[in-house]
This record gives sequence, structure tokens and C-alpha cells, in this order.
Amino acid sequence: MRNVLNIKDLNIHFGENCCQDVVIKGQIAKVFSAVLTFEALRCPNCGMENQQSIVKNGTKKSRIVLPEVSGYPAFLDLNKQRFLCRECSSTFSAQTNIVEKNCFISRATKVSIALYARKTI
Ligand SMILES: [Zn+2]
Repeated sequence: MRNVLNIKDLNIHFGENCCQDVVIKGQIAKVFSAVLTFEALRCPNCGMENQQSIVKNGTKKSRIVLPEVSGYPAFLDLNKQRFLCRECSSTFSAQTNIVEKNCFISRATKVSIALYARKTI
């Protein structure tokens, strides 16, 4: 599945039945679901590098727009691991390089839009 979607991040895990047809805005779309998780080694807020101090604290789902799959709009519901730092009580999310921080359009989608624009020109 990672290969099909060209997702290189090994921290993203697809389970069974991870692709579903979902009607979004009156149109059938392919919705993939995956979990982004790993062991956090360092708190981005206080810089604490003690794994004992950083605990897993639920997940947060975000829907990422993917390039079309077989002509269907495609989305990735990514359940990002959240962490709590016991040292400074801050929480933070797992990050992945398939999306820029706080951006819900994947890099691959941006590339395909850029290629399409170039063809049209
Ligand atoms: Zn901290």
C-alpha cells in the first residue's frame, strides 16, 4: 500500500481493510487510513531527551488530499500519534515528511498539480 501511494515514511502503517469507498461531496472517493507512530526521542518544546518522560497520548486524525487513484479522488486519513512530555507538560504530534507542517495537501499532490500545469501550458 505504501508503494501504491508512494509514501516513503516507514513510520506510517497501513492496516487491513485500509482502503474504503466513501461518498464525499456526492462523489465516490478512495479513503485510505493509516497510523503514524514511532517512539519520540526528544521533546520539541523543552529538548528533554529522556524517553521515560515522553509518553504516548492518543492520536489526532487529519485528512490529507492525495493524487487521484484510478480516476477517483483520494484521501489519506492519517491518525497521528500524540505525545505528552512529563517534564514540561507540553503535547506534540508525530510529524511526517509527506505533508508540510499544518498543511493538508500532500507533496505528491503538489507535484502532480505542477506537472499538469506544465502540460497545459
Ligand atoms: Zn518537554
